[in-house]
Amino acid sequence: MSTARTLPWIRVRNSKIHGKGVFAARFIPKGTRISEYEGERLSHAEADTRYADNPIEDNHTFLFIVDRKTVIDATTGGNDSRFINHSCDGNCESVVEDRRVFVEAVRDIQKGDELGYDYEIGRDKDDPPNVDEIFACHCGSPKCRGTMLWPAKRPKPRAKAKAKAKTKLKAKTKPKTKPKTKAKPKTKSTPKTKAKTKAAPARRR
Ligand SMILES: [Zn+2]
Repeated sequence: MSTARTLPWIRVRNSKIHGKGVFAARFIPKGTRISEYEGERLSHAEADTRYADNPIEDNHTFLFIVDRKTVIDATTGGNDSRFINHSCDGNCESVVEDRRVFVEAVRDIQKGDELGYDYEIGRDKDDPPNVDEIFACHCGSPKCRGTMLWPAKRPKPRAKAKAKAKTKLKAKTKPKTKPKTKAKPKTKSTPKTKAKTKAAPARRR
């Protein structure tokens, strides 16, 4: 391995977008696999249970949907990747490979630039009416769609769904980030997002 390998690509510091962010510690060429989104691997059910008591307005979790079976919770065992903010037109993307999640540069990134990728948080029929506020985006990109949710517009609720949405807020709504694999568009029974929380020692399996 060259010594370049030992120089970190990224550094965490306060972000104008949100809380902490991740910035290029040096020039990062397009295509670089910058880091892996590490953390504890859970089933969706486990993740839902774990955050069942979170208030609905709290989008501060470090969950990342890998696929229908697995969610990564970077609260435990997460690395700096968990601080990468959402961007509607980010310089990175998340890539799922062998059920692991990597963050890669989709264009050249200059030293000091903040890294971002599109969380593409899926919509759910149980989302509260103010879900777009909860996940409002402040990425500042000219292409900002104003929300971390995808698609940008709330789909026309069917009569049934509308009635239900009014009745009650679901306790378990915890958004979760979505991997950007083109393979799967939007799905998920429970929204979950990744966001800001705190670190913990590594533990993967
Ligand atoms: Zn945005």
